[in-house]
Amino acid sequence: MKPQAAVLYLSRYYAPTLKETPSDAELASHRLLLRAGMIRKMGSGLYSFLPLGMRVLNNITRIVCSEMDAIGAQQIIMPLLQPAELWHESGRWDDYGPELMRIIDRHDAQFCLGPTHEEFICALVRNEVRSYKELPVYLYQQQVKYRDEIRPRFGLMRSREFVMNDGYSFHETQESLQKTYDETSVAYARMLDRMSLEWRAVEADSGQIGGKVSTEFMALADAGEAALVYCDCGYAADVEAGDSLSHPKAFRGTQETDEQGFFATPGIHSIEDLAQFLHATPCECVKALVGTDKDGNPVAFFIPGDHELNYIKAQHLVPGFTLMNDAQLQELGLPKGSIGPVGLPDNVRIFADESLWDIQGWVVGANRDGYHRIGARHGVDFNVDTWCTVCEVKAGDVCPCCGRKLKSARGIEVSQVFQLGVKYSESMHATFMNEQGEEQPFIMGCYGVGVSRAMAAIVEQMHDDAGIVWPATVAPAQAIILPLDKEGSDVWETAYKLADRFAQRGVEVALDDRSERPGVKFNDADLCGWPLQIIIGKRGLAAGVAELKLRATGQKTEIPLDELVERVT
Ligand code: ATP
Ligand code: MG
Ligand code: MG
Ligand code: MG
Repeated sequence: MKPQAAVLYLSRYYAPTLKETPSDAELASHRLLLRAGMIRKMGSGLYSFLPLGMRVLNNITRIVCSEMDAIGAQQIIMPLLQPAELWHESGRWDDYGPELMRIIDRHDAQFCLGPTHEEFICALVRNEVRSYKELPVYLYQQQVKYRDEIRPRFGLMRSREFVMNDGYSFHETQESLQKTYDETSVAYARMLDRMSLEWRAVEADSGQIGGKVSTEFMALADAGEAALVYCDCGYAADVEAGDSLSHPKAFRGTQETDEQGFFATPGIHSIEDLAQFLHATPCECVKALVGTDKDGNPVAFFIPGDHELNYIKAQHLVPGFTLMNDAQLQELGLPKGSIGPVGLPDNVRIFADESLWDIQGWVVGANRDGYHRIGARHGVDFNVDTWCTVCEVKAGDVCPCCGRKLKSARGIEVSQVFQLGVKYSESMHATFMNEQGEEQPFIMGCYGVGVSRAMAAIVEQMHDDAGIVWPATVAPAQAIILPLDKEGSDVWETAYKLADRFAQRGVEVALDDRSERPGVKFNDADLCGWPLQIIIGKRGLAAGVAELKLRATGQKTEIPLDELVERVT
């Protein structure tokens, strides 16, 4: 039997709504979450979640945790209070700066309130996981984080105490880390989709956390602090970072190949076609694009200043590729054009780092009909890992993937994934015995979702003049019942019975049983953003119907009362 669900009786519910807009709330999310009685400010960057806000937070938590669980991450919880010694071990006690909330206990011992938990997780596993046989290990937690932000603002968007869902993975090899990193990126993409957020993945700077490879997941919103350019084909770049490329679909692998197993690219049959495409790229300084093809083989596109492009299929990953001119090649004692695929036009020189000199099976896509990859959408046709040296792209430039005009947008960083490598495990001596019987530091990844910030991001994207428009997946309840007549009337009786029927069905609904005028109830229902409003009035009741209003569209339909529960659930 399905457990009975709660009815949220508003007469008794702690959801004080505000008519006035709080004066210091600039952003819609901040304003509306306060006005709808979901959060309250307790100090600079400090917020309490009231019951409705807590329900939303719990729904977001459920989405995030279920996606983490689905990829095999296991939930734990670690203390907030972290001894300074651990931070001295990693070197971050000094490096982290004033954002670290430092405190002293009664014994004069120094601590910090965790802004993130890399040190703690290393300390947790380093004496427990001893053999490669136990790897990978993937743990996550969800809890409050503390950062003494220089300017806490915008409510939940940038607070000093906030809720983060943070994961940490430990690996023997880079390949294993890459796999978990990719799976987590997919899980993050799914979470944001489930929250109905419109978002872009952007290659990122790893900031305070460290490591080399990192992707941010940005919810598009005018209020966002990050500046992005994007294209309908899926290209997105962080303008401030200046060197980013990513594609949400990169994680979804929609690849089609021709008979030879190559990605056929319509319209490109020659190096001239290719050059023409490249002239449409936004700048002269794009040098190389490194990624993997459908078989997971590394692939590099090289784009010299003269805008010729070569497609190279390498068998190993290709960090450290550089483009060299003839003079530089000669300096190294290398004959002109000797490095690189056969059949290159004379004006193209490619130089790879030493480890790649004897790579077998390079393919010169650009020099064979049908192998050219232009019009190829990066991340759709293949996965892109890195742009090496990319200039700043601006709105109005053309998209480097498809040639259309780039649009500008602002983004809210909702989550970020990092490949940490051995940054923490080395300094903190978190090691295990590898297959060869040698001590080796764990290769680590870490991943963080701003759960409370996601709540604000959802409101930024989904609101109108009247209030919040929660997507059904995170709404505090699916529907609110609005009885419009006086307390004790038939209308009220019907409303209570209806609420009970929903509850017995396991569907949580709210019931506005306050003695308020219809106008007040309507306004509050719009403000709080329940996806459905079930309006019961005297006239409708006499005809045996209720009015069903969809908050998102405002669309109203009359529905026979006895069909309502069926129709809504
Ligand atoms: P920002 O660039 O906005 O300062 P960050 O890059 O410092 O964020 P991370 O260390 O990547 O943050 O933490 C993971 C996630 O935690 C972020 O993607 C964000 O969603 C959330 N987060 C970080 N700082 C705050 C904050 N002050 N208030 C609310 N959420 C935050
Ligand atoms: Mg920060
Ligand atoms: Mg950031
Ligand atoms: Mg970040």
